Amino acid sequence: MKKIVGLLCVCGTLMAAEFRAGVGRLRITPDGPIWMSGYASRNHPSEGVLHDLWAKALALEDPKGKRVVIVATDLIGLPREISEALAARAQKQYGLDRSALLLNSSHTHTGPVVRPNLSTMYDLAPEQDERLKAYSRKLSEDLFTVIGAALGDLKPARLAFAQGSAGFAANRREFTSKGVKIGVNPGGPVDHSVPVLQVTGEDGSLRAVLFGYACHNTTLTGQHYKISGDYAGFAQSELEEQHAGAIAMFLMLCGADQNPEPRAAEELARQHGKTLATEVSRVLAGKLEPVRPPIRSAFRIVELEFAHHTRETFEKEATDSNVARVRRAREMLKAYDERRPVRRVPYPVQAVRFNGDLTLLALGGEVVVEYALRAKREFPGEKLMVTGFSNDVMCYIPTARIIREGGYEPVDSMVYYGQPGPFTESVEETVFATIRQVMSRVGAKGGK
Ligand SMILES: [Zn+2]
Repeated sequence: MKKIVGLLCVCGTLMAAEFRAGVGRLRITPDGPIWMSGYASRNHPSEGVLHDLWAKALALEDPKGKRVVIVATDLIGLPREISEALAARAQKQYGLDRSALLLNSSHTHTGPVVRPNLSTMYDLAPEQDERLKAYSRKLSEDLFTVIGAALGDLKPARLAFAQGSAGFAANRREFTSKGVKIGVNPGGPVDHSVPVLQVTGEDGSLRAVLFGYACHNTTLTGQHYKISGDYAGFAQSELEEQHAGAIAMFLMLCGADQNPEPRAAEELARQHGKTLATEVSRVLAGKLEPVRPPIRSAFRIVELEFAHHTRETFEKEATDSNVARVRRAREMLKAYDERRPVRRVPYPVQAVRFNGDLTLLALGGEVVVEYALRAKREFPGEKLMVTGFSNDVMCYIPTARIIREGGYEPVDSMVYYGQPGPFTESVEETVFATIRQVMSRVGAKGGK
């Protein structure tokens, strides 16, 4: 059998379908006005819809029956509560191992709040809060449905991979005399790569394309009140128009310290979406390398440690003029009262490897770009797609250097995420030690 497959591979066009693939999609646009996530400055619910939000799933199965399901969502970030309950249900219903379910969020800032993450960012009237709770409940059902739809759609398929590039992501950590501010830092690290996974049917037609980019979906700023997936939403709908019958899925990579440039207008979100879609189509039309079985997957939760804090830290903060800080301080004092001060947060790290032809390294949280750059340096022999915003978005994940530098990502954002403060500088090495563990478990070559 091995010989025959080898022979067919040489023939190229006659290559056998080595996987089975299935896709599913569900519209997850909120019905009616809802509080939007991403900007603390928003003061009223959404006003209409620019385009729909989607949950999309791609199920892949190798010849030995090993399955993975990758889920892409046009959302700010899935909380652990939703992801873990969903994973437990998928395990029970479909026998899907936790390591074989990858849940990513595009981090659109023009979508609904997804409770309970970013809880301190908003102080909402009970009616708004109730709407968000109802949305989360329906979302959990929809995600379960879309996973089932993809698994129920498995048909022979071939996979291939290649990378392109797009230049609109800019490092946003601008160094000023008053410290690091959100702006534009032309000399800062970026990762402009656009990884593209092509899924074709036996007849050679495109069934799905999975692509990613490391850049915040923040072309649309806090003054925009129409629901949309920002540039990633436009890119996906553009690709689905260009390739009728195929599903286009965007995965957010390590774009936590990256903003689109220029930004702050609807036309620019459309433009960046078009730029990305055009690049993905160019890659699809070029030479892609075959992606072969087997599939292997690994998943680990590690605890990340916060810098030391005391009760006094938050007693002082409770009198602050910033309402979000006061809300954070109250939550932390409550935790002290209950003798469970928040010292650590659980952090998911996942790897899904297809032979040596492609490895998805999926990290939780808002991961800054240097994690992806370092992972690529540590695993030079691997074709890596490093996604952030996967399985849980509990806060930003800065490097040790960024923690020392300060600014929004390592310090101020923790207020809105309801976390006690910055991480210790050990966070970067803890995450990399865990990355090496999951990478080794899926057979990846490299790691210091
Ligand atoms: Zn963000």
